[in-house]
Amino acid sequence: MSNDDLGVMQKIVSLCKRRGFLFQSSEIYGGMNGCWDYGPLGVELKRNVKEAWWADMVTHHDDISTPEGASEAFEMTGLDCSILMHPQVWKCSGHHDLFHDMMVDCKESKRRYRHDQVRGRWALRGDDRIFVTAVCEPDEEHEVLTARAQKYFGLRAKDRDQISWDGVVVSLESVSDFSEVFGPDAKEPGTLTEPREFNLMFKTHMGALLDEASVAYLRPETAQGIFVNFKNVVDSSRVRIPFGIAQIGKSFRNEITPRNFTFRVREFEQMEVEFFCHPDSSHHWYGYWRDRRMKWYQELGLSGDNLILREHDADELSHYSTGTADIEYAFPFLPKGEFGELEGIAHRGDFDLRSHMEGKLNPASRPLEVELGEDGKPVHRGSGKDLSYRDPVTNEKYIPHVIEPSAGADRAALAFLCEAYTEDMAPDENGKMQGRVVLKFHPRIAPIKAAVFPLVKKDGMPECAQEIYRDLKRDLPVFYDNKGAVGRRYRRMDEAGTPYCLTIDGQTLEDGTVTLRERDSMEQTRLPVDEAAQAIREAVRS
Ligand code: ATP
Repeated sequence: MSNDDLGVMQKIVSLCKRRGFLFQSSEIYGGMNGCWDYGPLGVELKRNVKEAWWADMVTHHDDISTPEGASEAFEMTGLDCSILMHPQVWKCSGHHDLFHDMMVDCKESKRRYRHDQVRGRWALRGDDRIFVTAVCEPDEEHEVLTARAQKYFGLRAKDRDQISWDGVVVSLESVSDFSEVFGPDAKEPGTLTEPREFNLMFKTHMGALLDEASVAYLRPETAQGIFVNFKNVVDSSRVRIPFGIAQIGKSFRNEITPRNFTFRVREFEQMEVEFFCHPDSSHHWYGYWRDRRMKWYQELGLSGDNLILREHDADELSHYSTGTADIEYAFPFLPKGEFGELEGIAHRGDFDLRSHMEGKLNPASRPLEVELGEDGKPVHRGSGKDLSYRDPVTNEKYIPHVIEPSAGADRAALAFLCEAYTEDMAPDENGKMQGRVVLKFHPRIAPIKAAVFPLVKKDGMPECAQEIYRDLKRDLPVFYDNKGAVGRRYRRMDEAGTPYCLTIDGQTLEDGTVTLRERDSMEQTRLPVDEAAQAIREAVRS
């Protein structure tokens, strides 16, 4: 799919609702911002993304052979940790004190915006000059800013040409004097406050009392559950460094401006690996994981120019990291040439394990000046537990270094959806070429793998088709459809992204052959039903 046409995103959003991929959460009550529900097709798509990830990272991982690009064989194992964790976890991870966005408030409209997402431009009329702002999609920016300038200068629509512009659209971050800023929803200039920090963690209370001692947080990432269980995994299984622990689970962030469909939401799922290795070989493993994760997306269909791997510059790196790369996708809601993050692969050094041992904290990896809580104990104290590792062969004791490939299941599913969305031509039931919408999913992630159609609802065809359907259904998600012309049934399956359709006709009853129709090429092949089933199973496994 090309993103020449920004309208393509609207088409994808409407297809998602119409065909049951995604619904707005609590829609009948007006919706809940930043939350989405996966419908009957969407839930299968997202499960397939997660299952492909888990299979490729954990269950199908070969522990005894050296993978391509790696220096030695290694083991992969998994965890499923609780969402609510001890509050000290978030103090030591840095989330409690550092997981902030800079926010500006509008004193007049009482709205709150992310500082970097308020964008604006200097508008002029005669001697009057004002920085008009908006928070909107890039393709709407010019129109919205013009309307805001028109409002500020008190002009009618026909007099818009009296407005002239100075410079290009920039983020509010480039403006120092807010008295000349006309806020996105304000009636007069100068109503925005200076930027302030806002913690992204959702706060709740555990137990009956609603006091400070009962405060708990919904986890903003799955990674910390892995770090705090590092010792448990080493002690309870036979894993030896290097090895990886994987986890898939929900994370929550109180994003100020959730936007772009499921790209930035408040409740989402992460797929994270923490790979523990010796400090001396950590750079090798960083390169290995960066390349392996890029290949994973490519093999599942994001193979063109829409996918890039972006190494962070030295000044973008956290103090503890010697390498971080983002895998990014050119989502169609972004301006041309811009990419959005699908996954980050970070070399995290020994920062996390050390923080949970000693309570050292970002920034600068130095011990914190000890801040005492009401109980007189240090606020940022670590667990005090020894989270180092002793090599059973060399007897060397060290704190392992960590490589963290951290992906979002919702963003990955959205990228696969956007990439799959295609409009082309196909013959209708009368053989006339008509436009069709097709989701060209890789068979592994397609929600339905095959549809079974009896050509007509008589002459024993439905009975035969149902038998084939039941047989396939034992190990594949298959759909049975006997309604309407076959051409129309094909189109319905194309829109759902189903890679294969099997049609049962009179000849099937005579010689056991079926017509296998392939979604993308629309090629139809006549072959014995067992061979057709085998072809589908192989495509789904590949
Ligand atoms: P961003 O800069 O886009 O906010 P991030 O760098 O904070 O992302 P990480 O903390 O590295 O993200 O989280 C790892 C992955 O989790 C991201 O690459 C993304 O796929 C996913 N993710 C993070 N925040 C969200 C969100 N609000 N909605 C959906 N997915 C998210």
